[in-house]
Amino acid sequence: MAKEIPTLCPYCGVGCGLLASTDGERILRIRGDPKHPANLGRVCPKGGTVAATVNVATRLRHAMLRDGFGKAPSVVPPGAAIRVAAEGIDRILQSHGPGAIAFYLSGQLTTEAQYIATKFAKAYLRTNHCDSNSRLCMASAGAGMKLSLGSDGPPTVYADIELADAFFFIGSNAAECHPVTFERIRKRIDKGARCVVADPRRTPTAESATVHLPIRPGTDLTLLNGLMRIIRDRGLLDARYIEQHTEGWEQLDAILDDYPLNVVAQRCGLEEADILSAAEIIAYTPKLITFWTMGINQSLQGTFASNAIINLHLATGRIGKPGAGPFSLTGQPNAMGGRDVGYMSHMLPGQRSVASEKDRADMEAVWGLKPGTIVSEVGHDAVRMFDAIDRGEIKALWVIGSNPAASMPNLPRIRSALEKCELVIVQDAYYPTETTKYAHVLLPAAVNLEQEGTYCNSERRVTLMEQVVPPPGDAKPDWWWVREIAVALGFRKGMQFESSEQIFDEFARSTAGRPNDQSGMHYKMLRELGPQLWPHPSMARANDRRYVDGIYPTATGKARLWARHDISPDEKPNADFPMLLTTGRVLNQWHTRTKTGQVEQLNALDPAPYLQIHPQDADELGLSTGDEVTISSRRGTARAPVLTDDTISPGVVFMPIHWNELWAQAASPNEATSDQTDPVSFQPALKCCAVKVAKV
Ligand code: SF4
Repeated sequence: MAKEIPTLCPYCGVGCGLLASTDGERILRIRGDPKHPANLGRVCPKGGTVAATVNVATRLRHAMLRDGFGKAPSVVPPGAAIRVAAEGIDRILQSHGPGAIAFYLSGQLTTEAQYIATKFAKAYLRTNHCDSNSRLCMASAGAGMKLSLGSDGPPTVYADIELADAFFFIGSNAAECHPVTFERIRKRIDKGARCVVADPRRTPTAESATVHLPIRPGTDLTLLNGLMRIIRDRGLLDARYIEQHTEGWEQLDAILDDYPLNVVAQRCGLEEADILSAAEIIAYTPKLITFWTMGINQSLQGTFASNAIINLHLATGRIGKPGAGPFSLTGQPNAMGGRDVGYMSHMLPGQRSVASEKDRADMEAVWGLKPGTIVSEVGHDAVRMFDAIDRGEIKALWVIGSNPAASMPNLPRIRSALEKCELVIVQDAYYPTETTKYAHVLLPAAVNLEQEGTYCNSERRVTLMEQVVPPPGDAKPDWWWVREIAVALGFRKGMQFESSEQIFDEFARSTAGRPNDQSGMHYKMLRELGPQLWPHPSMARANDRRYVDGIYPTATGKARLWARHDISPDEKPNADFPMLLTTGRVLNQWHTRTKTGQVEQLNALDPAPYLQIHPQDADELGLSTGDEVTISSRRGTARAPVLTDDTISPGVVFMPIHWNELWAQAASPNEATSDQTDPVSFQPALKCCAVKVAKV
């Protein structure tokens, strides 16, 4: 008899709850979970078709071994793959030390898989070269929130949408990238809420805007400082909130004189009147939510612009209150869980830092390690990790649930690194991907619907998903493979978890007393009470939203207003590379299409890559829709058919990120994108680089 089991969408950070009907073997139907606070029963086309990604020809069902790059892999029993992986890691560990081993994890893994892999790397192998695709996704927002608020967690929750009277989107095309959240916002707009969208393209989000600011790529911080100045000059500051709950106003106040309206308009490529119209909404609406995502995060000033967004809310006291506050939308379903467990190269569980002696000592106590076990040097972030592989310093790379050979910037460099790497272990649910061709060891992973585990979504709500169907062949949950290889290497004590629940319990305990405290959560409670927001300390009632009392988890209890000047991009258009390339998602595909590329309905809706270009630029280059072009930067060249379209600003071209080498050679914009990084978060500036476009 069919039963309905609660699970989660594996795609974006909205974190929609799903109910999957199953007869125990097959998935019969998927629908949105009406009780889940993230979606209240809604689903977008991707979430609604996720069952079609499970039993497909491209599932990796068995472990495989390959002798070297370019050779065909052979199917082997799981034990043989575990032995080869463990022996390879041990050989490199003995001959080159822990610094020659690296992990590249994913915001699509369960919190339990992220935790066990992080623990294995940092506590037992003693390498901090453990980073993740969060570095490409929202490292800047996380760093910005931690610097401004003391915690990598937004003040806002989804329920604030129905309470807000205005929305400001900057660097976010939520209508396509976070569609269920935007559906809720659109309902508010239909009822009279106003909306400002700053984006170089007139996206579907911008189509719903009261004011659209077609901002020049890379100038968001200038606009944000300009808006802050308008708020100050019109006397709209909340002096009491600034005095009681923040520090740093004097420094911020001092830089605002450098951002008069005419300068801001000129640098951002905007009309002064449009900025003033936007400011009328942004400055005067008490219940305003500001959403941001990759347009801000994937830039050289991602952290500083995140600080500047939070400044707008702190300085006006519109934070920690119903219907008001800054809200970072996230790209992946569980990048938040990943950062909670410390799966980036500078982090430890509980939003701790490897650079802090106290934080290392805390985690050594939790993990039962000798003092001094955890290495104090910050490991390589994603970009520098591949640089170190390319230089031959890192010799073993274990990739779990990600496809860096398609998603990293400057792909020629990534391919060069992967070809040289002595041992590449790739753990994935799908084969082939752009990355699997570099693997010496391939480990088959279960997908969401085939395992239990937790995810933490954009509003920092933790949901338990239950197993719906068994995984195929030898596929296993990601945590299981990590445990088996750790045990094969002799790390039994501390790594011999028997279930994902045991892993969650240890992780939750490790967060006690931290800003992201989840020590009051456990599987039984999540089953009985449903998804829960953090902080949720043991023996305490959960809050409805964070920072309601104006007390922040900083050393002084006050939030910080940061004075951040523009960072001018090193790479500006010139005669050789006269246009700016920006990248992004489309509604019906996701990341590198390992899943959505298997779904007929989604491929019918968004079938192929393209280069969007303004008709004026197309005319100058003699291009028409459908013409094949090359898009070249200082690093490499991508190819795509042209789509002429006046919704993009002149001088800017756009290419979606989803189509890659398996689709066609040079189909990815990452052949050309920049691996320059934000100086604080080390997130690459994927959103903006100088290119030339030429007809093939
Ligand atoms: Fe999944 Fe995001 Fe769509 Fe929700 S909005 S169903 S989480 S892809």
